[in-house]
Amino acid sequence: MPALKWGLIGASDIAATRVIAAIRASGGETIGVFSGSADRAADFAAGNGLPDYTTDLDALLDWEIDAVYISSTNALHFEQAIRALKAGKHVLCEKPLALEAVQAEAMVELAEALGLVLAANHHLPGSPLHAKVRELVSAGTIGTVLSAKIAHAVLLPERLRGWRLGLGTPGSGVILDITCHDASVLNPLLGTPVAATAMAVRQAAWNTGGQEDAAMTVIQYQGDAGPPVLAQTHDSFTVGFAQTSLEVHGTEGTIQVTDAMTQDTAGQVILITASGTRAVDVDCSQDLYVIGLRAFTAAVKGTGVPTATGRDGLMALKVALAAQESAVSGRTVHIN
Ligand code: NDP
Repeated sequence: MPALKWGLIGASDIAATRVIAAIRASGGETIGVFSGSADRAADFAAGNGLPDYTTDLDALLDWEIDAVYISSTNALHFEQAIRALKAGKHVLCEKPLALEAVQAEAMVELAEALGLVLAANHHLPGSPLHAKVRELVSAGTIGTVLSAKIAHAVLLPERLRGWRLGLGTPGSGVILDITCHDASVLNPLLGTPVAATAMAVRQAAWNTGGQEDAAMTVIQYQGDAGPPVLAQTHDSFTVGFAQTSLEVHGTEGTIQVTDAMTQDTAGQVILITASGTRAVDVDCSQDLYVIGLRAFTAAVKGTGVPTATGRDGLMALKVALAAQESAVSGRTVHIN
């Protein structure tokens, strides 16, 4: 199959800083961009070496392209993905896939019915660090899994302090932004998420948008066998000096991963058992977005599966929505 031809929906920061380079590294060709603003579209195309641009989504979908990458604001993902699928394009959609589970379900079902690839651009489950943790856990290295803990508290870069912080802006807030990334890592590791309890607050003086910028969540999982598992996540836009991490605790050992949730794969996997503490070899040389784009390309070619399928994206969204509802209601929310 010749190189995948891509149309970009959204003149976004993540497309410019990560994904265009990853598309090219995966052998793909970026044809052009759709933006809501003609000036932004023209600037973005010129700045990123794209041959074409448009403010008409139907025009982009008429281009000779195989796939679209959607990185617009969260509230637009659903409608744009449905239109792209109906136009016969494979879809790599940014997280969260949609704002409601029924919307993400509709995306997944439409892609399946049309035989098209729909994937969520969750970069973390494809990280060799997380692949190694899943491998150690399924090999029984730490016994029966009991609990996990994710530290994903970061400082939101100034250039991104816009729509994410808008109180009442659909799709804003730290939970849809970061907790859904955590769920993309925890779900394939721990089994089925069954309930979430969360608290969310606003902390940063610079957060004039007013939306919550810090959250802590407890998620209960049920695996195929064994006791219920508890996972705890700390997600924040306000913490400037912490490392991200993942810990998984079992009856026979603990796995610690340093720098587990960053965009760059600089972390280390450490295994602690009765035999002692040792670092586990992991090859972290590949860019996570390139891993994701190569997996998506293989899925389109019928030789692989995406790093996070549409269904994986749906399940990550369900956890985030449950956490968000819990933070508002003060109650534990069950996940279907
Ligand atoms: P941006 O704010 O950079 O872009 C989102 C949209 O905002 C763009 O599509 C653009 O609309 C509009 N926009 C961009 N710059 C301006 C501006 N200066 N003035 C007015 N509007 C502007 O968002 P991000 O790149 O941070 O996020 C985009 C998506 O990607 C989100 O869904 C987010 O959750 C996801 N994301 C995923 C990451 C991952 O690691 N998987 C990391 C970061 C984000 P238009 O297209 O109409 O020009």
